[in-house]
Amino acid sequence: MKTIDYIYRFDPKNTSVKVPPSDAEKAKHELEVGNRMFADWMMSCQHGSLMPGDPHYVIECAGLNFGHKPTGDYVPRQDPFAIVIGCSDARVPIEMVFGQGFNELFVVRVAGNVLADECWGSIDYALTELSESVKLVVVMGHSGCGAVTAAVDAYLDPKKYSLNVMSLGVKSILRHIFVSVHRAAMGLQEVWGPDAPNSPSYRSALIESAVCLNAAAAAQSVRAANDRIRHAEVRVLYGVYDLRSHHVCMPPICTHVSDRDTHINLADAPNDAAEFEALAREMAVRLK
Ligand SMILES: [Zn+2]
Repeated sequence: MKTIDYIYRFDPKNTSVKVPPSDAEKAKHELEVGNRMFADWMMSCQHGSLMPGDPHYVIECAGLNFGHKPTGDYVPRQDPFAIVIGCSDARVPIEMVFGQGFNELFVVRVAGNVLADECWGSIDYALTELSESVKLVVVMGHSGCGAVTAAVDAYLDPKKYSLNVMSLGVKSILRHIFVSVHRAAMGLQEVWGPDAPNSPSYRSALIESAVCLNAAAAAQSVRAANDRIRHAEVRVLYGVYDLRSHHVCMPPICTHVSDRDTHINLADAPNDAAEFEALAREMAVRLK
């Protein structure tokens, strides 16, 4: 059996700088193509074989991007083309998931991809100080998120949430997620009917919907902030990484993973509360 490598490749003879995407659409395409390569690699690993003609999974690294220069004390300028806000979950390594190398993504990771003050500080910094290179902001949730699951369970059993066993820090994370859990619950009741909470699949549907809405809510907030402080050319997107298919997609239900072209997609952030509420209903329909 052959080993199946995921390679960061540096060519010492090539001292050029990798050309970054020139606009938001190209940046989106770059992330989606990178995720397709990562998902294909993960699938090859699961099948345990790399057949003749199968692709090799290579991330090309230009020397200057990570400071390699034969002479002198050269330090590269920070030059990411995208800001990515993701969960701290160890199963979701952001650069690998998007097939990116050094100096290409400005990553903010926190459990539940919630936007606390320090996260906002990082985002504001990148949007203002790295404005020459940043073309895109992406908020990425993921299936099976422990933080969202904890928020759903606390929502369904509020007594648990008030217990002292939960630290202030964890409670703070859950508080950020409750808005999305509440909206997901309303969407399920509107579409499934008033008996929705009695359905055996209610809790899992609530978690899955809340994961999407939690990413969408953060993206909507970033979009509003960006509209206030920065330039219209920065696009704000969101998606959900599926732990089974390894695709980042929105909408997130991947029942036919072989149809890979249709199941990698980053969606535009909701524009307002009405679009956010419509998403909750759409998720409820999909999960019925
Ligand atoms: Zn998570």
